[in-house]
Amino acid sequence: MDRRHVLKGGVAGVLTLWASPLLRAGGTPLRRSGRQAQQPTGGVRRLTDAISVLDGGGSNVVAFSSADGVVLVDTGAPNNDDRVMAGLKGLGGNAKVHTVFNTHYHLAHTGNNEAFATAGATIVAHDRTRQWMSVDHWLPDQNRYQKARPKAAWPTDVFFNAGFRTIGGAQIDYGYLLVAHTAGDAYVYFKDANVLAVGDVASPVNDPELDWITGAWIGGRVSAMDRLLKIGNDQTRVVPGTGPVMTWAEFKAERELMEVVRQRLFKQIRQGDGPQDMVDGGVLKDLPRTWKDPYKFLYAAARGLWGNHNKLDPDVV
Ligand SMILES: [Zn+2]
Repeated sequence: MDRRHVLKGGVAGVLTLWASPLLRAGGTPLRRSGRQAQQPTGGVRRLTDAISVLDGGGSNVVAFSSADGVVLVDTGAPNNDDRVMAGLKGLGGNAKVHTVFNTHYHLAHTGNNEAFATAGATIVAHDRTRQWMSVDHWLPDQNRYQKARPKAAWPTDVFFNAGFRTIGGAQIDYGYLLVAHTAGDAYVYFKDANVLAVGDVASPVNDPELDWITGAWIGGRVSAMDRLLKIGNDQTRVVPGTGPVMTWAEFKAERELMEVVRQRLFKQIRQGDGPQDMVDGGVLKDLPRTWKDPYKFLYAAARGLWGNHNKLDPDVV
């Protein structure tokens, strides 16, 4: 199928040809390969005297402790507030959480917002994250609607681009990562400790995920990673949404890998290929990592690429 043919056929016509990962999973066992997801250890990993990474029930919660109390980045999966609080108490000092940053709206990372907000914390997030949490929305990979979160879980202090706060004498920078994983991704950079929390914009263990229905796509992901590379330095430690803390070299390597994938995907989508063509074409072959579910990733990537077809190449349209 050549490009002209695809464009004449119209985007909607092409999209309907793709089997959704959900339907496909019903008939075909998903291939499982590569590194196994790291199970939560239940432990607390101290990165510095003030900064620790807690287990939020499978996702990471970053805690910055000072005499003023605690700043969290994300709150873990639902019903894990006791686990997070136990981790905080184990750190000693003033365990009262006064500020929570959300890196994005996904439930596995905002699941205990209500508990911390009710106890008095301010929840800071990008405006798009508040929007997705405050309305019912469609989950295409589960073929169902997700109810809006209770109001107590919603971010109460939203930003649009970037900002910083000085808490406990330390500078905390934060900013928007445009359509990298969801509509409202944010990083939080603890400048003095040189620790950068990036949510699911880095994904060292789980397959990288593009929440395409919110606007996320592979080009946004690489651009966001480039923005992050300008914030840190060789000594920066990167905390992903899930999985082990990354060195700067590991984060750079993931960015390089995503750029290779982006280039390959651009090439295939220009040829009018859908996700199965991309699997068959070996888009994810001969890379330093393997995908647990290549079709699911490529389906989301292809949807995102069609949504951004005007950015693929100046001569496409
Ligand atoms: Zn996520």
